[in-house]
Amino acid sequence: MLTLDQVKSKSAKRLEGLLPAVHAAAVKLIERTYARGVPIIITQGLRTIEYQNELFAQGRTKPGPIVTNARGGKSFHNYGVAIDFALLLPDGRTCSWDMTRDGNGNKLKDWMEVVDEAKKLGFEWGGDWPHFKDNPHLQMTFGLTINDYAAGKRPAAPAKEDECEMKAADANLIIKRFLQPDWADAKKKGDAAGMQEANRLANVLREASGQPKQ
Ligand SMILES: [Zn+2]
Repeated sequence: MLTLDQVKSKSAKRLEGLLPAVHAAAVKLIERTYARGVPIIITQGLRTIEYQNELFAQGRTKPGPIVTNARGGKSFHNYGVAIDFALLLPDGRTCSWDMTRDGNGNKLKDWMEVVDEAKKLGFEWGGDWPHFKDNPHLQMTFGLTINDYAAGKRPAAPAKEDECEMKAADANLIIKRFLQPDWADAKKKGDAAGMQEANRLANVLREASGQPKQ
């Protein structure tokens, strides 16, 4: 099984340059989905305007499929307030965009488990858009439009990191629903390492939500 550090390291580069509040929320998203048994990878974060223009040209004036409808300066990615994710498969190398996958076997679609956690952290999901659905896309725009950002406006009081803090009740719910059953399963099988790992993850969540370790 991939460790949380391994999963985090896969996305570290893509998190560079994000607005601090968005960065903090993205890290928490990686932690929380990991704790649910759904490791993810952030595949896109900040994009420069030049890079956005190159992407826009793809499928138009350059070969390749169309991947964006936004010109440089017209994507929230250009302002460090958007990320794209994919599922990270157990080999730690392969990404999946399969929205029906249920890798943790809890009868919920992994993709929507990620979306759920993202919304709790304050992200808006591109899959909710009525026209151009963008299922891997998450953004946190602080009430500003893309034209506001393009005109140089920025969030007046960037959301504080602690607004993204995990609440103790959320952490305890995840522990109860996912980690305690994992621990009990491991105990039944006499799998000491599994028990230890479930304990360790529970403590990661307890710490993230300001509770003492157990
Ligand atoms: Zn995106």
